[in-house]
Amino acid sequence: MDLPLTIKETQKGLIEKKFSAVELTDSYLERINKYNKEYNIFLTVSEEDAYKKAKEIDKSEKKLPLAGVVTGYKDIFMTKGIRTTAGSKVLEGYIPPYSATAVKRIEEAGGITLGKLNCDAWAHGSSGENSDFGPTKNPWNRGCTPGGSSSGSGAALSANMCLVTTGTDTCGSIRLPANYGYLVSLKPTYGAVSRYGVIAMASSLDSVGPLGHTVGDVETVFNVIKGGDGHDSTVVDHEAQAIKSKYKIGIPKEFFVDGIDPEIQKTIDEAVKIFKSEGVEFKEVSLPSTKYAISCYYIIQPAEVSSNLGRFDGIRYGNSREAFGDEAKRRIMLGTYVLSSGYYEAYYLTAMKVRTKICQETEKVFGEVDAMIAPVAPTPPFNLGEKTSDPLSMYLTDIYAATANLSGIPSLAIPSGFSKKGLPLGFQLMGPRFSENNLFDLGKKYHDAISFEPKVALK
Ligand code: GLN
Repeated sequence: MDLPLTIKETQKGLIEKKFSAVELTDSYLERINKYNKEYNIFLTVSEEDAYKKAKEIDKSEKKLPLAGVVTGYKDIFMTKGIRTTAGSKVLEGYIPPYSATAVKRIEEAGGITLGKLNCDAWAHGSSGENSDFGPTKNPWNRGCTPGGSSSGSGAALSANMCLVTTGTDTCGSIRLPANYGYLVSLKPTYGAVSRYGVIAMASSLDSVGPLGHTVGDVETVFNVIKGGDGHDSTVVDHEAQAIKSKYKIGIPKEFFVDGIDPEIQKTIDEAVKIFKSEGVEFKEVSLPSTKYAISCYYIIQPAEVSSNLGRFDGIRYGNSREAFGDEAKRRIMLGTYVLSSGYYEAYYLTAMKVRTKICQETEKVFGEVDAMIAPVAPTPPFNLGEKTSDPLSMYLTDIYAATANLSGIPSLAIPSGFSKKGLPLGFQLMGPRFSENNLFDLGKKYHDAISFEPKVALK
């Protein structure tokens, strides 16, 4: 079997009986057995359930959009009967009684669940190093972070242990692991995908989305998981935007300032050239409040975290709150502080005003252009341990991510090449709310133009 497969290739192979779903499951499990110890990607492998589902797929005559698609979930998605830890010792032995909507929909569409993927505890982090179960290593370079907080969701694909995965993005956590793994991913519009059954981090910012090897795969999974389920009141069913025949992309000047990594600048310059040769127009645009985005995020997010983590009191779920790690404690304290009387106006309310300004600025830009191009992260994958003693420098990794979460817009992370050291490079395309279809269209145009081939890191 030629790996990595795309969803289309998987379906074709199954229909033509080149392989069975059970054989597919075998080959992905073999990869997990071979590499998981070293890379710490899966926290739980649900082998029995996977084979049960694979046998069902092999017997079924139904044509399902994800039939035989082997997948894993960031460990903050509830999976009925399969341990769900949120990467934290607090939930070490927790077995959920139901599955998240995204999980349920993927399984109903024929997806085979291989297990649960490592992540920063409670999704707090940018490198995977805050997991209470140890850091995930980047299959492209064992000494580097695969990006967080959905660290296992990216690494599982780079190591070819899954065909697609899911993650959550509160400020970059779906995009960064894709960017650090030569992968595609989508942080959907806020309100496009239900968060039912996904452990909440910061509820006004959280979004659920897919990671995959190609734009087409990410699009297919998004179409399976999107739309209302009656359990998340922020989700609205939205008519998909029509594909455009002509695009104009904005270059937000505040994102391209001195200090940007030269290899990232270069890969984006090249992408702009390629888009231009495909007939896409470019225009410089301005988001003047970008410099406040990260400060604004690090007030609103801990405020919401401090409230959401209140339910893990050791009575209703899991172990005692003593088991919270340093990062969760830091955020609970910060959040409680910015919400406390006397400081609420100075911090939380000010941040909310800045957030409104950021929303207005992005809206204005999308009156001028159809999308914006930007880096995902300021540098290529950094070394494990490099930022762990300095939370502020870790927080700054999210500098390009915050705008999309604060304004609720979708963003597609797209791989573009490799650095001189052989580490993955890429960029993001942000669009107006519910413009996912246009972002997919642009992503495919670009990948067709560079004759993109998905790649995996380990033999
Ligand atoms: N890195 C960010 C943080 O630590 C965002 C995490 C996320 O998107 N879940 O808050």
